[in-house]
Amino acid sequence: MIITFLGTGTSQGIPVPACSCEVCKNGDIKDHRLRTSALIEVDDTIISIDAGPDFRYQMLRENVTKLDAIIITHSHRDHIAGLDDVRSYNYLTKKPMDIYATAYDQIEIKQEFSYAFNNNYPGLPKYNLITINDKDFDVDNIKITPIKALHYNIQVMGFRIGDFAYITDTNYIPPSSLVKLAGCKVLVLTALRREKHPSHYNLEGALKIIDFLQPEKAYLTHISHMMGFHGDLEKELPKGVFAAYDGLKLQI
Ligand SMILES: [Zn+2]
Ligand SMILES: [Zn+2]
Ligand SMILES: [Zn+2]
Repeated sequence: MIITFLGTGTSQGIPVPACSCEVCKNGDIKDHRLRTSALIEVDDTIISIDAGPDFRYQMLRENVTKLDAIIITHSHRDHIAGLDDVRSYNYLTKKPMDIYATAYDQIEIKQEFSYAFNNNYPGLPKYNLITINDKDFDVDNIKITPIKALHYNIQVMGFRIGDFAYITDTNYIPPSSLVKLAGCKVLVLTALRREKHPSHYNLEGALKIIDFLQPEKAYLTHISHMMGFHGDLEKELPKGVFAAYDGLKLQI
């Protein structure tokens, strides 16, 4: 399995337009973060976790010439805004794109992209919405375990595939979901900034979860410019914990 971090930034990305902070002005390439998303490749199957506003550019940057499915963590715009751009893959395969999402997230997707569901105008994006809940599901032959968590008061889905688990946009993982994460070797977890945040783990909160779960390696994502420079953050993280950056690839 190969994981590619398509984007590792919070909802505004980094640099933030019009921001004059040091990270936005003087950050190095690892401080340039598109909106959070990841690509999973297992054998011939390629899956994107989310399709945010930077989806088009992320697909170009990583030269993704085949995409089998998109699995949605939740329907905030920084995770679904790029769904219009699945058209490229629709044209290629002459099929709708398989989108795995909860019933609630499907309602949001249908509102946001109502034009794609309500008329026959040629060239519209085509979606095959597949409902997920807390039961395991398969994409091709890949078993995916959804993991429920809370993002302030809305539900988000994390995903576990074998030894790899990915959970973003959460500030509370309930005990029943921690059980599903137990024993994973590589964990990707949201860590927005240092100060507390109402809907995301801050650095301290993320490190507590990582310390509890004890994966071999953990990667922080959905990072805000308020976290400071990537290089400074990396130096202060405990052994086995890393700040993800755009374009980082993991082989698992
Ligand atoms: Zn987000
Ligand atoms: Zn800034
Ligand atoms: Zn969110």
